Formats: sequence, C-alpha cells, structure tokens
Amino acid sequence: MPPLLFRSTNGQSPAVNLREAFHAGLAPDRGLYLPEAFPQIAPDEIAAFAQLPYSEIAYRVVSKFTGGIIPDERLAAICREAYNFPIPLEKIHDRVFLMRLDQGPTASFKDFAAQMMARMFGHFLRDDGRQVTILTATSGDTGSAVAHAFHGVPGVSVIVLFPIAEVSVSQRKLMTTLRDNIRTIAVEGKFDDCQAMAKRAFADPDLKHIPLSSANSINIGRLLPQSVYYFYAASRLARHGEPMVFSIPSGNFGDAMGAVVAREMGLPVKKIIAPVNANDEFPRFLASGHYEKISPSRNSVSNAMNVGHPSNLARLVAIYGGQMDETGKIHRQPDLAAMRCDLFSTSVSDDRTRAALKSFWDQYQLLLEPHGAVAWQGFLDWQAVEPLGDAPAAIIETANPAKFPEEIHKMMTWSPDIPPKMEEALKLPEDFDQLDADYGKFKAYLIERHAA
Ligand SMILES: *Cc1c(COP(=O)(O)O)cnc(C)c1O
Repeated sequence: MPPLLFRSTNGQSPAVNLREAFHAGLAPDRGLYLPEAFPQIAPDEIAAFAQLPYSEIAYRVVSKFTGGIIPDERLAAICREAYNFPIPLEKIHDRVFLMRLDQGPTASFKDFAAQMMARMFGHFLRDDGRQVTILTATSGDTGSAVAHAFHGVPGVSVIVLFPIAEVSVSQRKLMTTLRDNIRTIAVEGKFDDCQAMAKRAFADPDLKHIPLSSANSINIGRLLPQSVYYFYAASRLARHGEPMVFSIPSGNFGDAMGAVVAREMGLPVKKIIAPVNANDEFPRFLASGHYEKISPSRNSVSNAMNVGHPSNLARLVAIYGGQMDETGKIHRQPDLAAMRCDLFSTSVSDDRTRAALKSFWDQYQLLLEPHGAVAWQGFLDWQAVEPLGDAPAAIIETANPAKFPEEIHKMMTWSPDIPPKMEEALKLPEDFDQLDADYGKFKAYLIERHAA
C-alpha cells in the first residue's frame, strides 16, 4: 500500500507523506495538512476494540496513517511506551460518563498527543540523522506536555512561548523546571501573540537555516493520536454500532478535531459538542456563517481555551467542503447545514463555568476543573435543544483539578490533592527567559540561540 498523502487546506502546496507533514508542521502555503482521504475502520474492527487495551487501540487507529512510514512493530512499541497510564471513565448518571484524560505525565489531555509525537519524531530523526528545533506556543498545557515528552530526546531542542500572565503557577512550573534541551520564554502578551510569533518564525525566509518544526495543534502529528480516545470511549460505552455523544471543551479545536477525525474514519457519532468560553467566534460562525475572529482573545478561567482564532478551524471547514485561509478569511463556505447536524457549540461564561463546577460536585460528588466544567455545561446546553435519549455520552475532562487549586478553592473552599509527580516538579527551581510580544526581538533570540 503506498503511504497516505496529506494536502494543505490552502490547496497551493504539493501533497506530502506523513513524515514530511510532521517535519513541516505548517504547509508552505501556510495551510494545514489533512489526509487526502480518511482511512476507514470497519464496524467489525471497531467492535473488536472492546476487548483491547488503550495502547493496542491506539496502534490500530494510528497505523492506518503511518503505513509504510513507520514499521508496524516500532509503532506498536511507541504506543505501549506512550500510553502506560490509566484513562478513567467515571459514571455520572445512566449512560453519561466523565472521561478523564488527565493521568499522563503533565496531567492534561495534551500528553496523549505529545507522548506519541515525541516518539515518532525521535524515530524519524534517528532514521535520517537530522536535528530539529521544536517551536511551540502554549496557553498553558501544550508547553508542559511537549516539554516533558521531548525532554532528553536526542536531536531535538524545544522552545516554548507562553503568555506570562495567562498560565497558572503549576502549568508554568511543569515546563520551566526541565532545562537541558528545553527553553521556555515568558512573553509579555497574550496567547495569540505567542502563536502569531511562532507562525511568523515558521514562514520567515531569514530563519530557513534553523530547522524549525511545530508541535502545536497545527501539526497533523498532534491531531491523529487525539482521535484514539474517542474510539476507546466508544469501545467501553457503546454497543455495537451505537452512535456516541462527546462533549469536548474547545480552544484551538484540536481535541474536537480528534472526534471529527474518528467520525470520518467510521466511528458512529451522534453529536460532537464543542463548547467554548467567552471566546465565542466558533458558535457565532456555526449559527450565522459569518466568521469574525476575536482579537485580542478574552481571558477566562478556562485559560487553555483563550483562543480568539482557533487554528484548527481551517481543517474543520475543509472537511465540510469549504476553504478558510490562515487569516480566517472564508474563500468557500462549508456545508453549514451538515456542520450543524454533526456539531453543537455554545459559549460558557466564567460565571456559568464556576456554577457548573460547583453544582456538578454537589450533585455527583465528582470534581471537575474549569475546562471540564465548560464541557459539562456545554452538554447541558445541548440537551436543552436536542434529546440525548438512550445514547451513551462521554464528557471530556481535559486536565487534572490539581492544576487549578486557586479556582477550585474559591468554589469549594478546599483544594484538590496534588498528584505526586506534579508535586515533585513544583519544588524544582525555575528557569525561563522573558521577551516582549515583539517579533523582531524573538527573531534575534532565535538567531542568537541557533548560532550558540
Ligand atoms: C488545550 C486545552 C483545551 C483546548 O483544547 P483544543 O485542542 O485547543 O481545543 C482544553 N482544556 C485543556 C485543559 C487544555 O489544555
């Protein structure tokens, strides 16, 4: 079987294989890579997942994309190494479950992609003796997940840009205490500034001599592993062929795109609920067909979702037959009716987020953090317009409550226990650089570091 090809959403760059899409991150025409056609997983194959551990499901899903690029035995080993932690499914009521994606090394769902991507990168680099600098902008959790995953990987150095005032102390310490091949830069600005600086660096001809690669949700390597846990949830919660409901708290829509990818591959899905915080550009677009990014993005308690122009929208629009460029301009409208049929979105204010966190605890004695609370409230909002019926549902909790002790203390008057691994990191000394949100200064920094 020839390797699967990936095309840019902007349609102006040649199709490439997975390895090249991985290295490039962004396509040369500044579009995002998507597979030319989604590989299919047959209903019987999905049914067989019910008996398999997570790592084996990951192998079976991701191997559909890597065929001919990464040897199967190597990929299977990567999956076993990457996914050696539990994925709790806690019953909320009836067939509605909370899927906690917070048991990885940095206690957020970002570990699922980062752990796998780092190993795939390591494999590619060993193969062709290359060096890369991974440049990533983070609103909190990507940076720590990526930094941990790539820490000590030969041939890789990592530069993380984070908005100084928008990440929690534990989010920050999980990335600034690693050192070695990991550099962190606190930017006097917002997440959007960090993302814009990273994107400009990737497109800058003056930086062509630095082998930059991205680990943001723009990289297709981030997206594919994020389709696996939807298959996993269905394997544990759905009967043969029964469509699932997922509620996924969304910022850059990489996590929600994982569910869209799973659906495109054949997973039966009744609804993908993608609630957002005060950055409501997506629900507005879904309702009206008009897209207007929010700049600067709005701060909120679900800080990892403070995104005013989600990078994955170009992919979502492309899957529904439209075209959106990197600036958010729509060149061809997607099939909005089909999008509304498959997806639901709603904006959850901070007040509603906090109230949902509190009432969820009162009602079910299960603890959420702000992002999971947005997912829960989004699920309730959806149920106000469409009956759940007997469908199985998974509400996605994307981070461990211990990452947001201040916020939880405000609501509950007590703080969650800190997982031992996190507690260790919080005690280590920090080391990070500081920069203004100024591309010129950042560029000089990159050139200087690369020469050193
Ligand atoms: C990144 C993140 C999100 C948002 O995920 P996207 O893929 O950007 O939509 C939600 N919750 C947490 C805790 C995150 O770290």
